[in-house]
Amino acid sequence: MVATIEPHAGRTADAVQAEVEAWIDEHWDPALTVREWWSKLATAGLSYSMLAPPYGRGYSREQNAAVFAALRAKGAMGPPAGIGTMLSLPTILTHGTPEQIEQFVPRIIDGTHGWCQLFSEPGAGSDLAGLQTRAERDGDEWVVTGQKVWTSTGQAADYGILIARTDPSAPKHQGITYFLMPMRQPGVDVRPLREMTGHAVFNEVFLDGARVPDSLRLGDLGAGWAVANTTLSHERAGIGEASGGFGRAAPGSIVGHLDRPCSDFLDKARAQMTQGHISPGTVKRFIELAREAGRLEDPMIRQAIADLHTRVQVMGWSARRAKGGAGGRTGVEGPLAKIGMTGTLRRGVELGCAILGPDAQLWGRDAATSGWFQELMVFSPAPGIYGGTDEIQRNIIGERGLGLPKEPGHPREMPFKDLPANATR
Ligand SMILES: Cc1cc2nc3c(=O)[nH]c(=O)nc-3n(C[C@H](O)[C@H](O)[C@H](O)COP(=O)(O)OP(=O)(O)OC[C@H]3O[C@@H](n4cnc5c(N)ncnc54)[C@H](O)[C@@H]3O)c2cc1C
Repeated sequence: MVATIEPHAGRTADAVQAEVEAWIDEHWDPALTVREWWSKLATAGLSYSMLAPPYGRGYSREQNAAVFAALRAKGAMGPPAGIGTMLSLPTILTHGTPEQIEQFVPRIIDGTHGWCQLFSEPGAGSDLAGLQTRAERDGDEWVVTGQKVWTSTGQAADYGILIARTDPSAPKHQGITYFLMPMRQPGVDVRPLREMTGHAVFNEVFLDGARVPDSLRLGDLGAGWAVANTTLSHERAGIGEASGGFGRAAPGSIVGHLDRPCSDFLDKARAQMTQGHISPGTVKRFIELAREAGRLEDPMIRQAIADLHTRVQVMGWSARRAKGGAGGRTGVEGPLAKIGMTGTLRRGVELGCAILGPDAQLWGRDAATSGWFQELMVFSPAPGIYGGTDEIQRNIIGERGLGLPKEPGHPREMPFKDLPANATR
């Protein structure tokens, strides 16, 4: 590891930004391949600077924000993003053995491996612990059979974080084990599903005798539900956080971005079109939209823009609280942040429709906004579903935060195999 910036916990955010900008001046070149640039970022501890050395610099949230601000200010490409960094990385760091951490973390933060999340099944979404995919022991390996669905970026993944049932005679939440599964093998069939955005981000995944070595079991046998909850808490907090602002390539060996020049991925407008989130940058774009449409002096539009700006600010603070940055812990910061984000997104879509009127329905080249708003609009139902629906987040807030009684259901100690089919609790 050759890091040219010394880690320093006491450094101000301004000082960090200035130093990282100087580092970028020295190292950044849009002609570098994505692999070369991500490797430089990771080696300098700047990919995920909040991680402890040797992977990061042990920076605070504010110092990390300064690193991102420096990347944006210099127009440089950001670090790898996606399921690997949002979900696999924190889960492996929390539950992995030293060998697993050494095997996977460097290749997540430098983008060598792409990841997907093999949790949801056709009969197990909100009721995730009702999953039916089986993993059976065969010597030093596990043989996995079942079907997953909604698997985002499954077609681009080298590995999947998988939960599977290893003991059907154990109670529902206790017979589940968590694995890090190689995706490119004969027993894994990934079939893309097309969404109404026109893209095929997610997939159905058929597992028919897929194999995982026992050395890639994450956590103890039968302890997968607790490990999965680490993943889910990071998912809720990550979804609640506005992000992005710079072009991003896809990590992993499958899609082939790693050996292309960074300059291929620096189209900011394109990057914002496909993120599906509202950020402070999106609010600025709404202001521009209103100005172009001659609606900026309309008091109703101005009111809605101010409302959206306020919500985006609160959303950012909620996401920081959910990630443990400030304030007390109630245990439901993640669900609160996620609901805040989905509500803000809905307000943004209403605002865009109010500004554009019928033009909001135009698509492609006919679209007044080059399509960024329309893409945001057709994607907007998704965040209220993924990572646990808004209704499920409200259940969690009610039961865990407010202490309301749980929904009636079958006793938690009843063996999974004895539960009636489609039993939801
Ligand atoms: C864009 C997108 C990407 C996704 N990516 C992934 C991925 O990469 N990996 C992955 O594993 N999954 C992924 N998912 C799946 C997602 O986690 C599930 O869709 C979600 O958990 C809901 O499950 P379901 O679709 O089976 O709906 P269901 O659970 O069948 O729910 C249907 C409706 O019933 C409501 N409902 C269900 N139970 C209750 C209850 N107890 N109380 C109140 N209301 C209830 C729900 O809120 C919902 O409105 C993705 C989903 C989307 C939309």
